[in-house]
Amino acid sequence: MSAYDANLDYVPTWCPGCGNFGIINSLKKAFAVLELDLEQTVLVNGIGCSSKIGQYINCYRIETLHGRTLPVATGVKLANHGLTVIAEGGDGDGMGLGMGHFVHTARRNLDISYFIHNNQVYGLTKGQTSPTSEPGMFTKFTPPPLGNVERPVNIVDMAISLGASFVARAYTGNMNQLTDMMAQAIRHRGFAVVDILQPCVSFNAVNTYAWYQQRVRTIGGDHDPSDRERAKALAGIWGDEIPVGVFWREERPTFADSLPQLKGGPLTAQPLAGADISSLMEELA
Ligand code: SF4
Repeated sequence: MSAYDANLDYVPTWCPGCGNFGIINSLKKAFAVLELDLEQTVLVNGIGCSSKIGQYINCYRIETLHGRTLPVATGVKLANHGLTVIAEGGDGDGMGLGMGHFVHTARRNLDISYFIHNNQVYGLTKGQTSPTSEPGMFTKFTPPPLGNVERPVNIVDMAISLGASFVARAYTGNMNQLTDMMAQAIRHRGFAVVDILQPCVSFNAVNTYAWYQQRVRTIGGDHDPSDRERAKALAGIWGDEIPVGVFWREERPTFADSLPQLKGGPLTAQPLAGADISSLMEELA
């Protein structure tokens, strides 16, 4: 048992073989690599199989409403920007219900890491197609002959376009690489997105471990992550080959850098000098 295991009797309720096991192990390893101070680390989850991750890891944690991971993480970070804030959720949570929040968090460049457990289905509710499902995918809810008729959201391409300043993809079947992507994302100053390819062994019969093993390819060492055009071109590749690694990275001011209220440090560390709380309370009563 490591310092990062939850000191509770919780046993993960994920299905045996679920890709979430690789993700939680990689996250704990990333915490250890970075020697994160657990008292200064906050994990914010949405709702779904993926969002149970906070129950099994030892740090401060908030379980939010479905799709509301990023606004809550934003609030935590702006109240105390000294904290390491990590948001985690699934493709349904983040790209469906939470899509609007993803757009605005990216363009603002909040200093938050966002790890998306992308299993291409809504697993917790028994396998409906999600915003990242393959076209033509058959499920109990999208049966033959048509299957899924919607085009999938490309998380990497969208994150680059919207203004996230670190964008990577990793595969839960390669935990060393996933650990490295997570550590780089947490270390990055700005909105850091990692699209994590995660098989759902119970409800996704298409994107299996075997399917990914044949396709994932690490981006070549000659790729310059500051080359936006090349990053976008790589993001467009999905089929017989699926690139994984760091696509895009830039240094630009975070949202908090632009706020004069935070120049003096986190709000929680600033004195309430001159604030007349009692009259304010009377006014609000
Ligand atoms: Fe994992 Fe899918 Fe089972 Fe959920 S339903 S725990 S995503 S295998």
